[in-house]
Amino acid sequence: MTNRTADILIVGAGAFGLSCAWWMAKRRDGSRILVVDEGEFAGGASGRNGAGFRMQWGLELNIRLCQESIKFFESAARELDYPPGIALKQDGYLVLAHSEKALKTLEAAVRTQHRFGVPSEVLDAKECIKLVPPLGRERLRGGSFCALDGSASPFLWLDALLRACRRQGVDVVYGIRARSIEPVETRYRVQLDDGPVDVAKILICTDWAAPELLAPLGIDVRTEPLPKEILVTSPAPPAVKPILVSLEHKIAVNQVDRGSVIFTVSRARSGTTTRSTGDFLSFAAPKIVDLVPGLAHVPVLRAWGGVSSVTPDMQPIIGETEREGLFVAVSSYRGFMTSPAVGRIMAAMVLDGDTNDPIASALHPRRFAAGEMIIEPLLNQE
Ligand SMILES: Cc1cc2nc3c(=O)[nH]c(=O)nc-3n(C[C@H](O)[C@H](O)[C@H](O)COP(=O)(O)OP(=O)(O)OC[C@H]3O[C@@H](n4cnc5c(N)ncnc54)[C@H](O)[C@@H]3O)c2cc1C
Repeated sequence: MTNRTADILIVGAGAFGLSCAWWMAKRRDGSRILVVDEGEFAGGASGRNGAGFRMQWGLELNIRLCQESIKFFESAARELDYPPGIALKQDGYLVLAHSEKALKTLEAAVRTQHRFGVPSEVLDAKECIKLVPPLGRERLRGGSFCALDGSASPFLWLDALLRACRRQGVDVVYGIRARSIEPVETRYRVQLDDGPVDVAKILICTDWAAPELLAPLGIDVRTEPLPKEILVTSPAPPAVKPILVSLEHKIAVNQVDRGSVIFTVSRARSGTTTRSTGDFLSFAAPKIVDLVPGLAHVPVLRAWGGVSSVTPDMQPIIGETEREGLFVAVSSYRGFMTSPAVGRIMAAMVLDGDTNDPIASALHPRRFAAGEMIIEPLLNQE
């Protein structure tokens, strides 16, 4: 049994948990912060994702979350004192519409984006194909493009956060599961694999698994697992500079520097397996070929799976639960691209009790019980 002590416990060392820990530690207010993760480094969705970030959204809330986060990614090497950088690539995101309805949605979103200074533009089908020659022409109506969107390495992002956290004295421990939480007077006793720890505050960053720890306390956090799969090709000559997202195909395409093309293809399934399913290639290939016929000849190298979370309105849940001192941050997908801003917001909430942030006020955990839903027009299309 290990005798662990801490003031604040963060459960989960993915992009959310480590970002929150770093923003808290940066304050140097003397709080002892412990982060536990039952898996290994980058073992959750944060190490299995498509690496994309974009500020092209249709709601102020999502635009602001991603604008702030992308600004942070741009200065991450300096902010986190991580000289190698996080392999930031800002070649833009091209969001594609294959129907008039989808194009109208994009046009409305771009008008909203302009209100917040996002340098996005609407392109017609010809301009899209000029930008990405392998695109299929059939049904393509147009798209929206923002040159500041892009990708970064999730592994470097996590490594940068982990090292910065440890330098600031945060105790980050892998291979330790938080099994249960018991309120004891004004504090909490958490049973870890290697013994109990008593803390004043807890932040649950276990994404889809958040209900496992919170439901036994009567706290209803409405999130479910969202299994996703990815296909990766052999290196191919440069063909797709911006990241593509097709609203109709529900596919995101990212050609990384070494030439491999990463296809994230959505399909409804349930469960929490991180294994790729046997028929995934036959499900995904016709959609991919329809979207980018110019890449039909590129051989698939491998596939992998990952499990993210989805909430009833497909927006994150961030805030304090009905129990004082017990906080939760659930990504509802897109947690890589929102993690810097979510870390800042949660650190202010946990350390200062600051719940005035307009984003946090909207994304609070009790909104579903109150019948509130936040609908993002461009959401969950990839
Ligand atoms: C295939 C795929 C593609 C994606 N593409 C993108 C993309 O392009 N851009 C984007 O922004 N997002 C993308 N996402 C979503 C993004 O990866 C997630 O939203 C994000 O990583 C969530 O971060 P997290 O820290 O909340 O969760 P995770 O990274 O899953 O971390 C949670 C951690 O909690 C630990 N844990 C769970 N229960 C316990 C417990 N009881 N005790 C201790 N530890 C526990 C787990 O081991 C895990 O490490 C994608 C996801 C997938 C699966």
